[in-house]
Amino acid sequence: MSEVVQVSMQGEIAVVTVDSPPVNTLSREVRAGLKECFESLRGRADVKAVVLACAGKTFLSGGDMREFETGVQEPGYHEVLRLIEDSAVPVVAALYGTVMGGGLETAIACHYRIAQEGTKLGLPEITLGIIPGAGGTQRMPRLVGLEPALDMMLSGKPLSVADAQKVSLVDTAVAGDVTVAAVAYARELVAAGKGPRRTRERSVEGGEKAAETIAARRAQLGKTFKNRNSPNVLLDAVQAAVDKPFDEGIAHERSLSSQVERAVEGRAFRHLFFSERELRKIPGLPADVKSRPVRKVGIVGAGTMGGGISMCFANAGIPVTIVDTAQANLDRGLATIRKNYDRSVSRGSLKPEQLEQRMALIVPTLDYAALADADLIVEAVFENMALKKEIFAKLDAVAKPGAILGTNTSTLDIDEIAAVTQRAQDVIGLHFFSPANVMQLLEIVQCAKTAPDVVMTALDIAKTIKKVGVVAKVCYGFIGNRMMDPYGREAERCVMEGAAPAEVDGALEDFGMAMGILAVYDMAGIDIGHLTRVARAHLLPKDPTFYRPTALLTERGWLGQKSGRGYYRYDGADRKRTPDPEPIAMFAEEAKRLGVPQRKPSKQEIQERCLYAMINEGALLLEEGIAVRASDIDIVYASGYGFPRYRGGPMFYADTVGLKAIYDKIMEFQKTLDPQYWQPAPLLEKLAKAGSSFAQWQAERKV
Ligand code: NAD
Repeated sequence: MSEVVQVSMQGEIAVVTVDSPPVNTLSREVRAGLKECFESLRGRADVKAVVLACAGKTFLSGGDMREFETGVQEPGYHEVLRLIEDSAVPVVAALYGTVMGGGLETAIACHYRIAQEGTKLGLPEITLGIIPGAGGTQRMPRLVGLEPALDMMLSGKPLSVADAQKVSLVDTAVAGDVTVAAVAYARELVAAGKGPRRTRERSVEGGEKAAETIAARRAQLGKTFKNRNSPNVLLDAVQAAVDKPFDEGIAHERSLSSQVERAVEGRAFRHLFFSERELRKIPGLPADVKSRPVRKVGIVGAGTMGGGISMCFANAGIPVTIVDTAQANLDRGLATIRKNYDRSVSRGSLKPEQLEQRMALIVPTLDYAALADADLIVEAVFENMALKKEIFAKLDAVAKPGAILGTNTSTLDIDEIAAVTQRAQDVIGLHFFSPANVMQLLEIVQCAKTAPDVVMTALDIAKTIKKVGVVAKVCYGFIGNRMMDPYGREAERCVMEGAAPAEVDGALEDFGMAMGILAVYDMAGIDIGHLTRVARAHLLPKDPTFYRPTALLTERGWLGQKSGRGYYRYDGADRKRTPDPEPIAMFAEEAKRLGVPQRKPSKQEIQERCLYAMINEGALLLEEGIAVRASDIDIVYASGYGFPRYRGGPMFYADTVGLKAIYDKIMEFQKTLDPQYWQPAPLLEKLAKAGSSFAQWQAERKV
């Protein structure tokens, strides 16, 4: 008898209950249990109907992701779902919680569906680069019709119960116990003499216009799913639901599904999914280390970042005290926070009373003493070492013992900041990204003396405020910004060689970056990067062309979006970026003055130069121990820098290109471009020559 699936009788109704914590994943064990139970019910005269129910948090939540790597073990999904659908008596699914992917595919193999209010129902496979592969592409269009099925599968977004009822995905909704309601519903079916209602026997509503409908959707894919293949494959599978008998359709779905699972896109999404689970494994951090409680937070600086960070904590219900130097700064900061919340209210994602609750959690003050009872203080003042040191000395004086002192610096040496306190063990970098209330990434910078429980607390905080926390060590720019440096350097050099900003950004955006780097500079403010370089001038390469376009734009006061022009102009009513011939002429003149040969690099060259320079820097970060794992770098880039998730992050992408090919290209660039920059990282060279990969290196290190 299965341990995780049991049958009980309630009169003439058999209740099959899955109880496989934490979320009733359709693991091999659950499938085997379902098979055993449904086989045992077959042909039993005393069973007039079956309810498929679950115990715990949710109905079957989805398929077992681990089986992507091991291969699906027997019994397979199709066998089990067919057995359920074949039942000679009606089968009612009792849905609640989060019914996604394989969970929903099981529900639609049942004959009737009853759902508790609040249930979410979706087929999110496309967001993982795959397609519903347990009959979803064949049954869903038959059950809800072609257009609604396509909407669901192409968006990957879950439906509410009300929306699911509109498309007849759910027959009835209930407020109370759904299993009790499902048993009552099953009794009604029996009393009314209603038998099984098999989805596979239906034809697809809207199927007569399938060719047109699918062609129209296909035409949209280039825009919504740039560089992606699985949405196309999904449409092929759905076409089969219309064109082919069910069994042939299922066979077709099966072959398409295994094709996308093995493809780079599917592997890339899974890589990011599984790598996120590794983030808390930090060498030297004992497994039993307990994090410190964080019930009250202090923020220093009510500017762009301080305001956004305050919102993160208020959103999690944690009270925040925010300090600035003048009342006007606090007023401006609080007004911006309110404006951001107002926008959420007008979009409908926040209720007006929630806005007031969150605002009430944020208390402005001019008095540092108000930070005395904070468990965590995050400093977010101007990027200036002397100022940050002054503030940390003050915080050391007012903060209670054991309070964690975090800094949001993007580039400064946090060990140096920690050294001004008497409690370096409590100091840590908490590098949020702008806008802090929106961006997913939090770089957690572990300093030389940061205590293990402080790192653990930071990882827990990230979870509490719904961020992806990645631990890095101290160096200039940590993981993300340090790798951005050579990437941006090549982009800027391409501009000096005669590529228009739109050509450089176009190449990077065609690769899949959310935004080209020059447009990013325009958005962030051209002067920001320039001023950090001025401050570090003594450390920079002796190269008059190094980031020269940025310097020229700063000198001209063309600081990007905030001044209406930078690499581009932003002067239309919608402030859309448009090419600007003036900076281009200015760069050309400067190139001439500095003797930079004009050669207009191709799109491919721009992509290779920018990305390979970034990847090479990533290899250095791994060797230096700044990043724990190659996959941590991938997470940083996919969640904070707009790197396309379907390429899996820069280091995963490098493995798909092949490290040897990248190494060879770097050696070619060493000859044809500037040899001072094109030095292969020793780790990259070693792995390339050994025919190895970052993934293999990571697996062998077992961190
Ligand atoms: P900002 O100029 O918008 O805000 C800084 C705030 O600090 C201002 O309100 C200022 O009045 C206040 N301040 C200055 N001195 C103070 C003091 N002694 N005590 C209290 N408050 C003081 O700056 P920002 O963009 O929010 O950047 C803050 C920090 O975050 C910097 O270290 C920056 O490098 C880092 N950062 C910025 C971004 C970004 O995109 N803006 C992203 C990541 C990290």
